Amino acid sequence: MLTLLLLAVTFHTDFEGASLGKVEILSDTHFRCAVKGEADHDGRNRQANWYYFRIDGATGRKLTIDLVDLVGEYNYRTGTHAVTRHTRPVYSYDGTEWKHFDNAEWDDRAIALRLQFTPDKDRMWIAHIPPYTNQNLAKLLRSFHSHPHLKRETRGKTVESRDILLLTVTNPKVSDEKKRVVWLMARQHSWEAGTSWVAEGALRFLLSSEPQAVRIRDDFVFKIFPMADPDGVARGGVRFNANGYDLNRNWDAVDPRRMPEIAVQRKAIFDSVDSGRRIDFFLTLHNTESEDYIAGPLSAGSPGVRKLAERFSTLLNELTAFHSPKGPRDSGQTTTPAMKGRMMVTQALFYERQIPAFLMELMVERSPKLRRLPTIEDRLEFGATLVKIISTAIADR
Ligand SMILES: [Zn+2]
Repeated sequence: MLTLLLLAVTFHTDFEGASLGKVEILSDTHFRCAVKGEADHDGRNRQANWYYFRIDGATGRKLTIDLVDLVGEYNYRTGTHAVTRHTRPVYSYDGTEWKHFDNAEWDDRAIALRLQFTPDKDRMWIAHIPPYTNQNLAKLLRSFHSHPHLKRETRGKTVESRDILLLTVTNPKVSDEKKRVVWLMARQHSWEAGTSWVAEGALRFLLSSEPQAVRIRDDFVFKIFPMADPDGVARGGVRFNANGYDLNRNWDAVDPRRMPEIAVQRKAIFDSVDSGRRIDFFLTLHNTESEDYIAGPLSAGSPGVRKLAERFSTLLNELTAFHSPKGPRDSGQTTTPAMKGRMMVTQALFYERQIPAFLMELMVERSPKLRRLPTIEDRLEFGATLVKIISTAIADR
């Protein structure tokens, strides 16, 4: 019996953030694995690009895994898929260090991604991009537990009663009166783990003893929502909260019961503005397949907002791997919501309080400037530079 168990290759999803659909066994080394995907509250907009599972018992055996059931919808456009010819899965033997597979074979007719590999170890984790869970965040925050320049608050609860955290980084010994104020948000969409690595890099830099970080803490207040959808991250979701609502749409529909995450985040931001505090810059971080870009209220904003966007974009293009040669995009839809329940955070913040709010997309496919698929280290480093660039772009205003 023991021998049989050792021979069978088994698939596991009994850990935080894991997701996998049905596994069909084609032979003892060939498996067809459906990507579970997730649809919204109406059963629309299915997106299938988060998979994270463990394979046990395959040491030294050449496996073939076909990732299938990838097609869904995006913004009600059918037939789209966010696992592509150019997205390359990652693997790990310890759940911490992640590497991209050297090869993956795309089948355009079947819309499937085939992996062929021979595990070196008995346990192997596979994911779409390097995962970042609530546990990663908790560990990070524990490491900064007694930092005098970090304040951590729970601003409310998610559908499943998880904490909605808001972090504040600043030197409390310097009066806030003249400080510029920046808000950052990560992980509105739970599959976009790359944005959490960026946020971690940003936080690590902000709390560091580097002279520039010390100056930034004297001159700025950074407010960070590090995990906008902790429920989705916990269950290995894709882009909807536990009730099926997209947390970067619906910002015009205040519904604390169906989407408490948005209600809590909106209130925190608007309470701050309404009490007379400034917000010089708001940025929400996202991942997408093949493009880096920034979008913001270019046409509706003042010339100052457009200049800020252009300065921010130029610095990113010059100093980082961010590759957006066409510059910032207009997020449009600022005076009248085009469709009820489709407003993004950036649109709502500008529409309702004229906050210079931007969205940043960071690609998960091969970066033309890095000349490789982005790694955890690339994301962490980008996060640190992002803080420096934001503070420079705003200080120049
Ligand atoms: Zn997103």
